[in-house]
Amino acid sequence: MNVLVLNAGSSSLKYQLINVETHEVLAKGICERVGSAEAFHKHGIDENEVVIDTPMPDHNAAMALVLEALTSGPTKAIDSLDDIDAVGHRVVQGGKYFDRSVLIDDDVVAKIDELAELAPLHNKAALMGIEACREQMPGKPMVAVFDTSFFQTIPPKAYMYPLPYELYEKHAIRKYGAHGTSHRYIAERAAAFMDEPLEDLKLITCHLGNGCSISAIDHGVAVDTSMGLTPLDGLMMGTRCGAIDPAIVPFIMEKENLTAAEVNDLMNKKSGLLGISGISNDLRSVRQASEEGDERAQLAYDMYSNSAKKYIGQYIAVMGGVDAIVLTAGVGENCDKMRRMIFAGLQPLGIKIDLEKNRAGLRGEREISTDDSEVRIVIIPTDEEYMIARDTYQLVKEGTLEITELV
Ligand code: ADP
Repeated sequence: MNVLVLNAGSSSLKYQLINVETHEVLAKGICERVGSAEAFHKHGIDENEVVIDTPMPDHNAAMALVLEALTSGPTKAIDSLDDIDAVGHRVVQGGKYFDRSVLIDDDVVAKIDELAELAPLHNKAALMGIEACREQMPGKPMVAVFDTSFFQTIPPKAYMYPLPYELYEKHAIRKYGAHGTSHRYIAERAAAFMDEPLEDLKLITCHLGNGCSISAIDHGVAVDTSMGLTPLDGLMMGTRCGAIDPAIVPFIMEKENLTAAEVNDLMNKKSGLLGISGISNDLRSVRQASEEGDERAQLAYDMYSNSAKKYIGQYIAVMGGVDAIVLTAGVGENCDKMRRMIFAGLQPLGIKIDLEKNRAGLRGEREISTDDSEVRIVIIPTDEEYMIARDTYQLVKEGTLEITELV
């Protein structure tokens, strides 16, 4: 079964066409700067990638380009749209309504729209993607896969904020989490890699990329996660500050004469690694500068690793122990120095990183803890697109999400 996986952002449309049975990516690409004069379409895998500057006034136009690229010309991957069996849409906010992926119908669309209040840019973008598919592939089965649904098992003591209760009742202010598809995937894969049932394991999963989040997964069930009402909470990230003293917000609004929107922008786009180092949100550049003696780059590095270390400690306490810590995404998969710093000093907790295995520069699923470490440290490259394709396959073909075997 071929599933077209779509990830629509406010000005982008990312896609992959995946054969779920073989786990083969048949085509992938991205339309960027949709709606602007600089719009372009990148299509292809690795060396076969082509970049086409082309007008795309909106997501519907971008969708038309994607479907044309998939079915014709040098980028052709399938004969016709009939070779797309179903479409899986990434949706950021599923709120309280969705604790799992669902087949899309009018009611689901209405709820995604209603939830746009909690994630205005993202949910509206997903709706544009859904509408474009409905228009250009009428009747094609579609599934919505939510970033938040995996975290609907988190208990109230962890998802509530200690604010007046009426704010929760009036505005649904609570922790929802994000990156759930990635955490779900790496937890399942880590259990398979360790050859143990997920239901027997206490896992801490760390998605460390440009966006960062850490989750506690107790016997297969998410019990806490670092992102909150929005993806701004929790860890220090590439450009986001993560958790800070909330009183800083009104303080800088007053001192710097900023509006709520401006301070939100500052915390989301100008903070984190970028804000502290003043160099970049890209850890590779920060690493290089720190190795050349830049003190602020070193500080950014130290703060990032300390932030991750503290969440790991919290979640060991929350679960009363941990069997394995799982790492993924750009930093988690590739940066040996950051991994070394995160796990430094955790031997008293039974966590021992093997410095040679950590440095080995390998790719793919692997273990970097010592043989005598009580807690295993495992790296699992994430694959959110495959997870979306698999949920879509299961709901469309099997009518249930209960078959959890990963290809
Ligand atoms: P996103 O959250 O945007 O999907 P990614 O998972 O692609 O992010 O991660 C991007 C981050 O990973 C960047 O900060 C980048 O510098 C970092 N990264 C990627 N490769 C390496 C590497 N070899 N060493 C250090 N950092 C790396």
